[in-house]
Amino acid sequence: MSEERELPCPFCGGEASVNGGDDGRMFVECNDCAASSMCALSVKDDPGPMLIAAWNRRTPPPEVRRVCEEIEEQIERDENGLPTTIEAERYCRWLAELEGAFKHE
Ligand SMILES: [Zn+2]
Repeated sequence: MSEERELPCPFCGGEASVNGGDDGRMFVECNDCAASSMCALSVKDDPGPMLIAAWNRRTPPPEVRRVCEEIEEQIERDENGLPTTIEAERYCRWLAELEGAFKHE
């Protein structure tokens, strides 16, 4: 299993790393804006992997969540709850809307 590395800061895009003090507290911190994760005490096991996993947990932007919910509502399902064929035109429109949601700056 490969070791998980810190994703860039969700606020500024800066590089982040696991830091800690002499008191045993450890946390992931952005090296640019100082945003940080929760703290964990380094007592016996290395809390680094757990802190990195917490720092790396992200949620999609609200626009993306909204589009995904709309798509989910419109997908036709068979008696087993499995999606049936989706019209190609609608599918392409949804994809374009999703791409647009990621390009708002
Ligand atoms: Zn930052």
